[in-house]
Amino acid sequence: MTAPTCTTCPYCGVGCGVIAPQAAGGAVAGDPAHPANFGRLCSKGSALGETLDLEGRLLAPQIAGRDASWEEALDLVAGKFAQAVADHGPDSVALYVSGQLLTEDYYVANKLMKGYIGSANIDTNSRLCMASSVAGHKRAFGTDTVPGTYEDLEEADVLVLVGSNLAWCHPVLFQRVAAAKAARPQMKVINVDPRRTATSDLADLHLAIRPDGDAALFNGLLAEIADRGAVNAAYVSAHVNGFDTALAAARASDPRDTGLTADELAAFHDLWIGSEKVVTVYSQGVNQSACGTDKVNAILNCHLATGRIGRPGMGPFSVTGQPNAMGGREVGGLANMLANHLDIENEAHRAALQGFWNSPTMAAKPGLKAVDLFRACADGRIKALWVISTNPAVSLPEAEAVAEAIRSVPFTVASDITAATDTNACCDVLLPATGWGEKSGTVTNSERRISRQRPFLPAPGAARPDWAILCDVAGRMGFEGFDYADESEIFAEYAASTALARDFGKDLDLTGLAGLSKAEYDALAPVQWPVPETGAPGGRFFAQGGFFHPDGKARMLPITPPAHGEDTHYPFRLNTGRIRDQWHTMTRTGKTARLSSHLAEPFAEIHPEDAIAHGIHDADLVDVTSPTGTARVRALLTTRVQRGAIFLPMHWTASFSAPGKANPAVAGVTDPVSGQPALKGSRARISRFAAA
Ligand code: SF4
Repeated sequence: MTAPTCTTCPYCGVGCGVIAPQAAGGAVAGDPAHPANFGRLCSKGSALGETLDLEGRLLAPQIAGRDASWEEALDLVAGKFAQAVADHGPDSVALYVSGQLLTEDYYVANKLMKGYIGSANIDTNSRLCMASSVAGHKRAFGTDTVPGTYEDLEEADVLVLVGSNLAWCHPVLFQRVAAAKAARPQMKVINVDPRRTATSDLADLHLAIRPDGDAALFNGLLAEIADRGAVNAAYVSAHVNGFDTALAAARASDPRDTGLTADELAAFHDLWIGSEKVVTVYSQGVNQSACGTDKVNAILNCHLATGRIGRPGMGPFSVTGQPNAMGGREVGGLANMLANHLDIENEAHRAALQGFWNSPTMAAKPGLKAVDLFRACADGRIKALWVISTNPAVSLPEAEAVAEAIRSVPFTVASDITAATDTNACCDVLLPATGWGEKSGTVTNSERRISRQRPFLPAPGAARPDWAILCDVAGRMGFEGFDYADESEIFAEYAASTALARDFGKDLDLTGLAGLSKAEYDALAPVQWPVPETGAPGGRFFAQGGFFHPDGKARMLPITPPAHGEDTHYPFRLNTGRIRDQWHTMTRTGKTARLSSHLAEPFAEIHPEDAIAHGIHDADLVDVTSPTGTARVRALLTTRVQRGAIFLPMHWTASFSAPGKANPAVAGVTDPVSGQPALKGSRARISRFAAA
């Protein structure tokens, strides 16, 4: 009997280690040796073995709906992209990629677009989950650095979960927190969320904050830290700039903008200030907002002012939504970044990376971020579009307009494991990609831990790895530098390129992995970066300062909370999010009856008093309508949402329930700094649906 394959779960950013099934239809197990989960799995992870059948798989290239050879499809894609660049310039083509991609895929896609085609029009669906955290980190720390580790959540005396339903969205990390709290009852958990969730049920204090009241909450906390003499003056003096202006802005903030009572605010201040070991975890409720970056910096301000960062049980901690959102950030997966946390607007950085790649050109300015990228499709600027492993016609705001925008592009191609997505139905060419269990590479989880995804199944039909498809197109476009024998060679090149980050004083150093042989790469154990050539890998950042701005200091920023406007035509605040047992647009989790039995159809959570006011009863069909679209779903009456709020899950697609799609009703409003869509902040109205 052969040894079981140890790999990594393809769903959320916890990045759990998984032992693959040893026979078709067998069950997966949690990897007891993996430091993210120590053998634990959640409902989605434990059902992975049930998702591996080939029903619905794309098994051959397709051109306009007919099967084609790889040669014909690749020639067509390369030719169309080359022609668009020749006729309209490099910015007339675009790639839209995914946090599902492995780091090696991501690296090659960015190298092709930025270093060879010469455009930064490559963005990722990770824009939807963590761009505001990236921008906030860069403003405060000088790089996109997550300072801590998962152990910090367990070691904290006070754990604050802001805009995070950790119980459903990062379940194994939640299991670790719950176990730590059970073992150490003095540990307090605070949950800041307008909606009461499964996470709130564990919390000692649930603060049902007004939507987007987070910046006012943390501004008030900063003022209170100062008033109670809790500023770490020595740390601030040695390692932080901007304290006075940040505090002045905080003092100008109105605590009523939080929507919380004075008693609730006092309880929050007492816990946060009264315990040195505080970790503040934040997720989509913070990031997916028109003021998401400011919210992030309001949180970071409080940790910097107290010096509670980078030490065991202390620090701010952004949890990523996707399995490789972090890996994508490392290799420049966003349109405004270069690989290795280098800056696209820095001429020396661009020149150094171009020199490393020995590439013919280099994108000289940031590209289009996700929402703007599809607007450029709609208005004719994009002539050729390649969507890889993602479903923007469901997941982006104004989703119906996004589908129409894709259809309007003269040439579109999608690489995926299935043809049956709302996006792929709009594309001219479909390329079959290998999926989880078939592909090989690395992912990085929320605590900067790199793990291997290892294959244990043969590639079905003509499916190929994403990196290989990209390399073949690059070669057909006449580019050299894409002749990798396998993914280990890509990883070695990427790891070697991080010497540039080190040389420019950035945080990302993987030079200790640059010389891995294929066998060593295949056997790579989970490792947290940095991994320098000499010295111990991993650990925490910033306990002793060492920030990545040129002066080595962090920046506190003055934050002005947003005004709270009313809209009489659309009086409800629409919040979209995940449910426990589905992943993204359900292309994998939708295959298992077990997962669908948790919540079988889309719904709108509505407060019972709002329902009475609108003549709506439990399980009625309702229309949730915004200026951009309508979702028709069943009403689920619950006091878990506040009056004036609606919650819609984001998973359902035309494949499952056409009217149940949430995101046509989400407006394409974005954070001005990060470009992240405000997926939790649209305006809507509700009405009972009555069939004619
Ligand atoms: Fe997979 Fe996330 Fe569940 Fe872990 S917590 S098993 S990574 S979905």
